Amino acid sequence: MPKGRNHGLLIAGGGLAGSLAALAMARLRPDVPMLLVAEGDMLGGRGTFLVLDAALGEAERNLLAPLASHSWDAFYALLPGRPRKLKLRCHAIEASAIDAALREALRPEQLRLDTKIVAVRDDNILIAGGDVLGGIGVLDARGWAHQTTLELGWRHGVSRTLRFAAPHRLDLPVAADTSLGSAAGCALFTCVPLDPQRLVVEHVRYARAVETNAAEGSASIDAWLAARGWSAAETEAEDNFSTAVPLGGDFAGYWRIGGARVAKLGARGGFFGLGIGSHAADAAATAVALAARRDFTGAALHDAFEDEAAALWRRRDFHRAFARRLVEGGGCEAVEALYRSEAATVGRFFEERLGLLERRRLLAA
Ligand SMILES: Cc1cc2nc3c(=O)[nH]c(=O)nc-3n(C[C@H](O)[C@H](O)[C@H](O)COP(=O)(O)OP(=O)(O)OC[C@H]3O[C@@H](n4cnc5c(N)ncnc54)[C@H](O)[C@@H]3O)c2cc1C
Repeated sequence: MPKGRNHGLLIAGGGLAGSLAALAMARLRPDVPMLLVAEGDMLGGRGTFLVLDAALGEAERNLLAPLASHSWDAFYALLPGRPRKLKLRCHAIEASAIDAALREALRPEQLRLDTKIVAVRDDNILIAGGDVLGGIGVLDARGWAHQTTLELGWRHGVSRTLRFAAPHRLDLPVAADTSLGSAAGCALFTCVPLDPQRLVVEHVRYARAVETNAAEGSASIDAWLAARGWSAAETEAEDNFSTAVPLGGDFAGYWRIGGARVAKLGARGGFFGLGIGSHAADAAATAVALAARRDFTGAALHDAFEDEAAALWRRRDFHRAFARRLVEGGGCEAVEALYRSEAATVGRFFEERLGLLERRRLLAA
């Protein structure tokens, strides 16, 4: 470690995973010195995450649920010819709520904003300008590493926040709407009420290739709003993203490429989520696991999170096969088969406890 101040636990990257890790440490382990280093001036990632409660253990729920702008005991799945209401609890978490909670929880000396990181090592961070921040151990949460060792599909999304002049009257979130059909591949909408007059609508399209055609997603949202009679709403914000969906490949190689001997969280650490829904449950799980630790040295963090990510990768072969159906299938049959199932089955999908017959049925759809 370089000479100079020891900042304790260093967290590199203030997106979803880095921010939740810092929040869990501040709340549960105020005894451990810590510094969160973030590139921009907004923490917590971007957008709104719809999180199914079934994906959360008790400790993860305790961390996430108080951040929710709203929680519901059910959601809709709008499938061709059969709209459904599934009685499963879910939470809407806006990145801005994570940002606000962190600013309240961290002391000024625990947060460094507007700081570009140049390199991350197991016990220090080199920042633009040449300064080195030293600590006990480092967690690199700077988003995706190079993906050359993985076989990937892609999830292309456009997310629009809308404000209505009068209440929109949507009482529950829509976890998936495939009722409009899609010209090619699997495309679906999600819709989350933020308050009585605001909604966030997201168009998501699964594809083999990485593309940058956000205009198509935006036009699809226009068509969806027209079909719902909601064209008059005012757009508050629109954002687009393309996120990789791992289908297979060399996971150990991916972990090494992200930084040899450096502990990693979030997408960089292989905590990729389930291929549908958000990464928020994985980010909460790693945050809680971090806060339960005694040893925060770089080497110990590396080994613990590498083991955890590798175990997750092995356990999620079914979810990767399911994601492959979305990326390579003709349409959204697999998503529709999932949301046509009993609520308990859907819950087990997100809890990662589906039985063999249920798995076979979903993959055969
Ligand atoms: C509007 C929107 C909606 C989305 N919806 C979904 C969804 O439904 N499902 C889904 O799976 N994903 C979605 N995503 C993508 C999702 O946010 C990411 O997959 C997820 O946040 C990964 O978490 P992470 O913490 O690993 O990375 P990120 O949240 O991307 O965080 C990485 C952080 O590291 C910082 N960073 C990177 N390089 C440096 C550097 N050199 N120096 C300092 N800091 C650095 C970045 O600024 C960023 O804050 C969406 C994205 C957007 C924008």
